[in-house]
Amino acid sequence: MRTKRPILLVEDDGVDAITVSRALKEIHVTNKLVHTANGEEAIEYLTNTNNILPAIILLDLRMPKMNGIEFLSLRKEDPRISLIPVVVLTTSDEEKDRIDSFRLGVAGYMEKPVDYIQFVEVIRTINLYWTLSELPELND
Ligand SMILES: [Mg+2]
Repeated sequence: MRTKRPILLVEDDGVDAITVSRALKEIHVTNKLVHTANGEEAIEYLTNTNNILPAIILLDLRMPKMNGIEFLSLRKEDPRISLIPVVVLTTSDEEKDRIDSFRLGVAGYMEKPVDYIQFVEVIRTINLYWTLSELPELND
């Protein structure tokens, strides 16, 4: 990505988190990957003003404590973090999840491919899109 800001991954599945990390390395993305295991941890990270705000948030939906949809509702209420684009990365193919996610302002919704090569292509596409996108300045 053009920005040096980190990428925030909100994901409870350790294997999926490793896959995202591996895919980012494979396509030579050097931005730091910050991993939080659920929505609650992600909100904690984002509201702690000692942390650098991420360029984008990759969000799983099915997570304990605070799931992705609950996270999106809270994010929408916070003007500081609502500017950060969120891309859902999920195994859910439920229409309700897509509707709720887009109502709550996600920038994209991707199903996690089971196949690693396809997973890399999804991450490559997300990276390219957000490299080309013009984004508002964030105030950490
Ligand atoms: Mg999950």
